[in-house]
Amino acid sequence: MNCQPWLKALVYNCTNTNHACLLCSEPAEQRYPLCVACEQELPWLDEHCLRCALPLPMAGLTCGQCSRRPPAFDQVVAPWHYGFPLDTLISRFKHNSQWPLGRLMAEMLALNVHHRYQEGLPRPDLLLPVPLARRRLRERGFNQAGMLGRWLSKALVIECDERQLLRTRETPAQQSLDARARRRNLRQAFALASEPSLKGCHIAVVDDVLTTGATTQAIAQLLRQAGARRIDVYCLARTAKPGQA
Ligand SMILES: [Zn+2]
Ligand SMILES: [Zn+2]
Repeated sequence: MNCQPWLKALVYNCTNTNHACLLCSEPAEQRYPLCVACEQELPWLDEHCLRCALPLPMAGLTCGQCSRRPPAFDQVVAPWHYGFPLDTLISRFKHNSQWPLGRLMAEMLALNVHHRYQEGLPRPDLLLPVPLARRRLRERGFNQAGMLGRWLSKALVIECDERQLLRTRETPAQQSLDARARRRNLRQAFALASEPSLKGCHIAVVDDVLTTGATTQAIAQLLRQAGARRIDVYCLARTAKPGQA
């Protein structure tokens, strides 16, 4: 019994159900490597801002920040908020290279996105993963957003281009800067490989976690300038505002 009805469609490469749960190692007894108990414990994102997916106490609202200053992106899709145990799962995927875990989360995100298409969310033409700064990429050896993008691309049958968005420089420590300087600093950190090809395009930017939205905002502005018609953001998890649960 799924707690999320749309998850029923998740059929993992084999039809048997005796694989182990990737979280607790008990028999999963589902068609994917996650047991019902662990699935129910995931921090499913309920009510959230219609635009940026910030967790909110009521459904159908836009958060204060999006109302005051609408972001350059149109809609964020995230199945979870960034709480326990999802935060540790993402960390295991990113820092301990636990790729089966990353793939499971990507497959679940893909199903969530697919469910949203059925509810009327338009399908994008192209997926663009958020690039990693070169030094970070060297340290980690892979870009987690790029991997999510590839898995999503396969599941949703939408092209993913990992070379279009470039990180032109490392973002220096931002703490010492005021908000305006911080935004400018971030805006200059990204560039596009070939601009004209994005004219009239509907793009979904892919990332693992959406925190303040500043990075996504910077990228969305760049894509808008290049003529993108609509920009959505697909991510695993959305953080609450600092100090909120
Ligand atoms: Zn389990
Ligand atoms: Zn919002």
